[in-house]
Parts: sequence; C-alpha cells; structure tokens
Amino acid sequence: MPERGIFYLCAMVKEDVLALVDQGLMLPLMEEFYTIQGEGFHKGTAAYFIRVGGCDVGCHWCDVKESWNAETHPPTGIDHIVTNAAKYSDTIVITGGEPLTWDMGPLTDALKAKNLKTHIETSGAYPLSGTWDWICLSPKKNKLPEGIIYEKAHELKMIVYNKHDFIFAEEQAAKTNKDCILYLQPEWSVRDKVVPWIVEYVMQNPKWKVSLQTHKYLNIP
Ligand code: SF4
Repeated sequence: MPERGIFYLCAMVKEDVLALVDQGLMLPLMEEFYTIQGEGFHKGTAAYFIRVGGCDVGCHWCDVKESWNAETHPPTGIDHIVTNAAKYSDTIVITGGEPLTWDMGPLTDALKAKNLKTHIETSGAYPLSGTWDWICLSPKKNKLPEGIIYEKAHELKMIVYNKHDFIFAEEQAAKTNKDCILYLQPEWSVRDKVVPWIVEYVMQNPKWKVSLQTHKYLNIP
C-alpha cells in the first residue's frame, strides 16, 4: 500500500538522519548569525556564530532555553553550515545549547579545511570533541566538566548569579591550566545587584577579570 510505503520511507529517512547527527555530519542548527563577540577575551571582535540546539544542563537562568530541545531544530549538513559561515568571517564561534552534546570533530575539520578559526563556548558537560583555536569553558553546577577540558581551556567564564558563585568560581579556577584567563560575568537578569560584587571581588582578587555581555548593551545578537 502506498501509505505504508511512505511510512517506511519516512522511518528510514529519519533513521539515516539520526545516524548522521550521531556521527556529527549533521547538527541540529538553531540559528547562525554574523555579529560582534560580546563576551570574554575576544569581545569586540567580529565573528560568525553557529548556535547548535540541544542542552540538558538545565541552568534556571538560561537565556536560550529554546535551544534545549534538539528536536525542534532542523538537522543540517555540516557542509551547508561551513559554506555559509565562510562567506562572513574567518572566526567561527560554536555555541548553544551545549555543543559538546554532539561530536564536533567533523564540523571543526571542515572549518579548518577552509582555514577558519574555531572557537567554542561550552559548559564542558560532555567530553571534548573537535579541534579548537579557542575554548571558552563556562562550568555549571548542575553538570560539572570532566577530563581534559580544564587543561585545554583558554578562558574560564564563571557566571555570577549569587554570592556562592564566587566559591564555585574559585573551585573551578583551581582545576584549570596556568595560562587560562579567568573571567567573572554577571548573569544578565541580576546584573544591577551583581556587578558591584564582581567589581569588589576582582579588585581584591586581581587574577580575575570582569566580563560583561557587551552585545546586550549594544542591543545586537
Ligand atoms: S549550559 Fe548554557 S545552554 Fe545549557 S542550560 Fe546552561 S546556560 Fe543554558
């Protein structure tokens, strides 16, 4: 029967797509945009952002909760993603969601093949995959990083929502490599309360630097 035939065909296609996502050859693409990096070491620099869907870390203050469910974002071939990205910038920032939910190897290989710089913003909740020119590690209490990412991180970005976050920040900083640049960044919704705490803390503990979400002040993505 034709209807049954279509059902089997759809099931097959879905399985094939899931297999490609599993291999990192397709990724659930939430959005991509060319903008200015607003945070951390590279703030102020133009970059192309690729936001990959899927995250089960569950931060209550997350400002991209619509990224969490990977099934709501279309599986997209990495060739398509890379071709688009290469038109805009030589610096590509992979963010999420939690990009390390997926195998980042094929995507970063394809970006590198075009001589593009690869940056990642990750909580480190899943094993590090991919080849990176810059790793921004932003650990979350709900699901701590494991393994070599502390050795590999170029910057540690700790989000401050309450005073306990300073203790957590120090615990995480103690695990990083000696060259890792340390940032404290206010959680946006409580910035007015938290910024004075951070300013005071950084003056008392100058190994830390302040990071602000300057793109939000500039009203750009
Ligand atoms: S890890 Fe990032 S994307 Fe995931 S819930 Fe936390 S803030 Fe949101």
